[in-house]
Amino acid sequence: MNVPDQFDLSGRIAVVTGGTRGIGLAIAEGLASTGATVVPTSRTESDVEAAIQTVESHGVDSLAVPTDVTDDDDVRALFEQTADAFGGIDVVVNNAGVNPASALGRPENVDPEGYDFVLDVNLRGAFRCAQEAAAYLGESDGGSLINIASVGGLVGLPRQHPYVASKHGLVGVTKSIALDWAPDVRANVVAPGYVATELTAEVRENDTLRQSIVDRTPLDRFADLAELAGPVVFLASDAASYVTGTCLAVDGGWTAR
Ligand code: NDP
Repeated sequence: MNVPDQFDLSGRIAVVTGGTRGIGLAIAEGLASTGATVVPTSRTESDVEAAIQTVESHGVDSLAVPTDVTDDDDVRALFEQTADAFGGIDVVVNNAGVNPASALGRPENVDPEGYDFVLDVNLRGAFRCAQEAAAYLGESDGGSLINIASVGGLVGLPRQHPYVASKHGLVGVTKSIALDWAPDVRANVVAPGYVATELTAEVRENDTLRQSIVDRTPLDRFADLAELAGPVVFLASDAASYVTGTCLAVDGGWTAR
């Protein structure tokens, strides 16, 4: 037995949605640093090009396929072009996610369009990618789907109702996918706590809110980006070959309370 070898992703092909900044870019770098070819994608072409350079700086291949996960044609092209370029797909990380101001607030004030938008990106988008990736992951020797939810997929968060609905849905649907795809493909979900990214910029600018989050977190701080990469590399790798249908909270103890 050689445990470090189980984490080696050399020869694996990975797609990371929302892989151009924040948590997704950290995940893309984590996968690349352990040897995987990584296709980091998002809607913004210039960000995709920059992310590719970051991935390639780890000595692995990459590919630019700008993709909106709410667009069927885009998503189909993402997986087709990746498989054509590299001969298959082994790992898919559904990380693209949004939580815009139009979807925040007390339930009675939430804008219906904001609600639908969040559900379409965070939940339907991840499911759409899983559907399009299914055949490729099924052909892999170690196919692994990893969906990025949130502590809001496990417990309630005030004033974030569409986001919480989308993330609870993502936790549930990942477990269901794991059942349907076993024993060929593993499917797991990661639930991060608060991380310093663009998504949480407004929260962090508000001193009272930021401090209340730190006070609520047993580890007493926001997560560093790199602290999300390792758990995803684990779930992508053979080190997790007997792990499917599970939700891994990476939340500094937030959901232990
Ligand atoms: P960021 O806002 O920093 O990055 C989001 C990424 O998703 C960007 O690359 C963005 O690129 C992309 N994206 C957004 N919409 C779409 C779309 N329709 N199609 C394709 N790509 C899209 O977010 P974080 O890094 O903070 O969050 C990443 C994931 O982690 C999300 O799912 C989020 O819910 C989750 N999470 C984050 C936490 C945090 O504290 N930051 C805590 C818990 C969970 P572009 O806009 O150019 O398309």
